[in-house]
Amino acid sequence: MKVKELLAESCHLLACVQDGRLEAEILLSHSLGVNRAWLYANSDTDVADLTATSFMQLVKRRRQGEPIAYLTGIREFWSFRLKVTPEVLIPRPETELLVETALARIPADTRWRVADLGTGSGAVALAIATERPACEVFASDISARALLVARKNAESLNLTGIHFLQGSWLTPLEGKFNGIVSNPPYVARHDPHMQQGDCRFEPESALSPGTDAMACIRHIAETAPPFLESGGFLAFEHGYDQGEASRQLLLQLNYEDVETINDLAGLERVTAVSYTHLRAHETR
Ligand code: GLN
Repeated sequence: MKVKELLAESCHLLACVQDGRLEAEILLSHSLGVNRAWLYANSDTDVADLTATSFMQLVKRRRQGEPIAYLTGIREFWSFRLKVTPEVLIPRPETELLVETALARIPADTRWRVADLGTGSGAVALAIATERPACEVFASDISARALLVARKNAESLNLTGIHFLQGSWLTPLEGKFNGIVSNPPYVARHDPHMQQGDCRFEPESALSPGTDAMACIRHIAETAPPFLESGGFLAFEHGYDQGEASRQLLLQLNYEDVETINDLAGLERVTAVSYTHLRAHETR
């Protein structure tokens, strides 16, 4: 079959998904190892049967809901093309806001120690390491398989200085940090969102802490202070309806400089705070 015939057939099959045509083009260019512009310049080119068959398999899997990022193994985040597998959450555009929030609190050229908890594909840690090359970046994840993906991403971006540590949240970390960031699971298990779109195929442990949507955020906020340098910051992503609960929690725990940042949809998405040891002591 020709390129244009495969595109026409796959567009038809993907009419049920949003941006079906774009996704058909992404899958075909992935199968052929070319970019999307090539498809237009070469629409009359014949495609080998084997390639056409494996492409149509991908189209069928997409039709059944599998995330396009898992089918191509790639998701763009920050300035990167990251490797993603079903072992890791697919990085979301909103999470770039967490990176921006952290960068706003990390002055350029400082040799700060910064930790990313539950790094998954490594997206946040890699972005911070790229933008603040003098910082020493640590990234933890409880999943050894996720860490393999993160390490591969670091290697392909030549970010060899990041310390990847296996373990739950802060457990594998030692010493104090000037900044701690995290995009933890924050969707309740029973939330209908868990049964929609890409979420159906992502690791449940990366999306949901269980019945209490705030459980991981609370754990991180409660355990972070002894790991923070005085004046150090904590920044994390949360659900659109968790801004108020996050701020209340952080104030109770004696954090200060509370700031919540809205995402492009105007929803509260990231909250950042700092912690001063002395002051927390005085006001107790
Ligand atoms: N924001 C993601 C979603 O809506 C969830 C990401 C997360 O749990 N950290 O699917």
